[in-house]
Amino acid sequence: MEWETVIGLEIHAQLATKSKIFSGASTTYGSEPNTQACAVDLGLPGVLPVINKEVVSMAVKFGVAIGAIIPERSVFARKNYFYPDLPKGYQISQFEHPIVSRGNIEIELEDGTTKTVGVTRAHLEEDAGKSMHDGFGDNTGIDLNRAGTPLLEIVSEPDMRNAKEAVAYMKKIHSIVRYLEICDGNMQEGSFRCDANVSVRPKGQKEYGTRAELKNINSFRFVETAINIEVERQIDLIEEGGSVLQETRLYDANKNETRSMRSKEEANDYRYFPDPDLLPIDIEASFIEQIKSELPELPDAKKQRFINDFNLSEYDSGVLTAQKEMADYFETCVKAANGESKLSSNWITGELAASLNKANKDINDSPVSAEMLGGMVKRIKDDTISGKIAKQVFEAMWNAEGDADAIIESKGLKQVTDTGAIEKLVEDVIANSPDQVAQYQAAPEEKQGKLIGYFVGQIMKQSQGKANPKQVNELLKVKLKS
Ligand code: ADP
Ligand code: MG
Repeated sequence: MEWETVIGLEIHAQLATKSKIFSGASTTYGSEPNTQACAVDLGLPGVLPVINKEVVSMAVKFGVAIGAIIPERSVFARKNYFYPDLPKGYQISQFEHPIVSRGNIEIELEDGTTKTVGVTRAHLEEDAGKSMHDGFGDNTGIDLNRAGTPLLEIVSEPDMRNAKEAVAYMKKIHSIVRYLEICDGNMQEGSFRCDANVSVRPKGQKEYGTRAELKNINSFRFVETAINIEVERQIDLIEEGGSVLQETRLYDANKNETRSMRSKEEANDYRYFPDPDLLPIDIEASFIEQIKSELPELPDAKKQRFINDFNLSEYDSGVLTAQKEMADYFETCVKAANGESKLSSNWITGELAASLNKANKDINDSPVSAEMLGGMVKRIKDDTISGKIAKQVFEAMWNAEGDADAIIESKGLKQVTDTGAIEKLVEDVIANSPDQVAQYQAAPEEKQGKLIGYFVGQIMKQSQGKANPKQVNELLKVKLKS
């Protein structure tokens, strides 16, 4: 039997406000437990929530960016459940009337085509506190610093058909919220996390299968593996005659398995009702227009512009525009490189990205600035140095030894383009390699291209990589003929 996977994601993006969604307490991450929870966050009697206006702007910004409908009115609702990290006994969320409804996200698939994934809705809600199990013996510690932190929950349609599509969708949302500067996207700190709803059905069947919900996945890699493992589990289960239960499951990265947390029946009686403490949010058309007019250039548009203006491939442009800071870096680099875009792109997505990755650094903390890299690219372009020597220059720049020109000068890395000097190198190598010369001259023409590599290698070695390879090749061909 052939199976088809169906996936819908619920992404929680923590909105990057200074204070909480309904109180003035700070949202700073990593403070001493319970130092940032005020009376409102603690749910003490006699206090009232007051909406943080910034949160509304941010949600609308997201809605507008994905071409969604922004309803005139949205309403906060109480989602009732009992848990120690939720002091009020309910979470303030939105239910029937979310602030953002129906939008679209374009994702790029591996085969180069694009696909549209529907966003059902995005709603505002407050985060809960955190339970802590380490260091409390048989007890559990509760840290309420996170209680009341604003979240935008972005719910997709069940439009994705494999784990790779889910990752592409999650990455695109991540990119958009960071471009909009409404979420810092820090997944380690939990500012961006997702629940993945996964089901399978026989290929060709119209109805969806029963889904399991994989909770709180906080890395792109985990989303992919967790979904794949869950799909395999469901298929095995059905093929053995069992059936999938609608339940919440936890992905355990250490054991590489998903396991049941709770079934939907016991968990899902939230008794939602409109929160009487909060007024509905009414949004005027002029407010939406204002936000629309202030939107920055978004990843899809930037990607297209890079393809058009810089002649980049779809792929390179996608890599460079996924992160706004990376795109800015590229544009600055190209400028410093007198407009040389292709080489700039290669160096950024190649050597620079690899070095940053290895050092576990972000583009913002790159030891090599965009101006410096551009300055080096300019010297490759004008033949001052070869691409190979540039690796040395790059490494020196990385180690703070100065800019490209200074390094080329102090280390004497200038490419030898003086024809006389190169001729001498070529003649020496030919004189010292009679066997190879004889072999070359006896070989048919189509084999000579490969044999010439030996001579080029020798010359580059002698010149410590500084001889201009093009000149070397041309001269060799002439000299080896005679
Ligand atoms: P709940 O409120 O119980 O979490 P929703 O109907 O809001 O349920 O759906 C939550 C998510 O589950 C959405 O992203 C939706 O696309 C996805 N989803 C719904 N049905 C399925 C299914 N059969 N298979 C996979 N995902 C699904
Ligand atoms: Mg859900």
